[in-house]
Amino acid sequence: MQKKLAILTSGGDAPGMNAAIRAVAKIGASSGFEIYGIKRGYLGMLNDEIFLINDSHVSGIIDKGGTVLLTARCEEFKQEKFRAIAANNLKKRGIEYLVVIGGDGSYRGANLLYKEHGINVIGIPGTIDNDICGTDFTLGFDTCLNTILDAMSKIRDTATSHERTILIEVMGRRAGDLALHACIAGGGDGIMIPEMDNPIEMLALQIKARRKTGKLHDIVLVAEGVGHVLEIERELKDKINTEIRSVVLGHVQRGGTPSGFDRVLATKMGAKAVELLANGESGLMIGIEKNELVTHPLEFACSLEKASSIKKDYELALLLAK
Ligand code: ADP
Repeated sequence: MQKKLAILTSGGDAPGMNAAIRAVAKIGASSGFEIYGIKRGYLGMLNDEIFLINDSHVSGIIDKGGTVLLTARCEEFKQEKFRAIAANNLKKRGIEYLVVIGGDGSYRGANLLYKEHGINVIGIPGTIDNDICGTDFTLGFDTCLNTILDAMSKIRDTATSHERTILIEVMGRRAGDLALHACIAGGGDGIMIPEMDNPIEMLALQIKARRKTGKLHDIVLVAEGVGHVLEIERELKDKINTEIRSVVLGHVQRGGTPSGFDRVLATKMGAKAVELLANGESGLMIGIEKNELVTHPLEFACSLEKASSIKKDYELALLLAK
């Protein structure tokens, strides 16, 4: 009997998810799997929103942001009895293979399906935040970074004209990667990320020192995990002599055409997921480390904090922000 493989996207959407869906569907079909799509992540698995995927579902999607499979959050999935219903919706169709594209929450659900119900699962890291352990990059991070850089350039024009300090809040509850990379790549003048202490006094001194050298603006990147940017604005206001404004980039960071990097990474990870399942390997996540595709047990990605070179990059960003 033909082996059946389902794909779902779960948690926050990220540019590149569609490219991964396309790769799994196309390579999966050419490797002999019958391919199914699950709508709205685990919610759709629970509600039995499962359909046969054909070529038309994945044509013309490689350059589209978001996810054609839709995504959702599903609190019930954290309970064993609901996972059993969801798993049964796969089993009654004879679906034994599953690719989950999402963040570490989605991996937790995937790992439980693997452990409790023997579903052969592979996880692909899809989240703009770059906060998954076991991979240097997640799908969507590069695209999102470029969206922030574009916004920074525009904000800098007005900041310079009005000689203002502008705080830009970017996504990243637990991880400061977006703020940090944007600060380095966009020539930011200050940085606040959740992994580090961010004394407001130090930022104020830095801004005042910059202004003494004749600088006309300051662009400060603030990761959302540090606190609300308006609160930070209030605190900073009394400590500097310049006019200050805040911008929350918000959901504009989630959308947009995926970058070439994200599309290639998504395609390679999608192909790797099929290869692993075809070879009888599962319960794994795929990552990219030192420019090589790697695998780790799903458990590893769920249990550990991402070890990264954040401190070194933070020091570099501060050095350049003068
Ligand atoms: P992300 O995958 O982007 O980290 P979430 O943390 O919101 O996003 O998780 C997405 C979904 O994964 C949740 O809505 C839930 O259905 C499932 N999930 C998250 N954590 C668990 C858990 N501990 N057990 C089972 N399912 C989980």
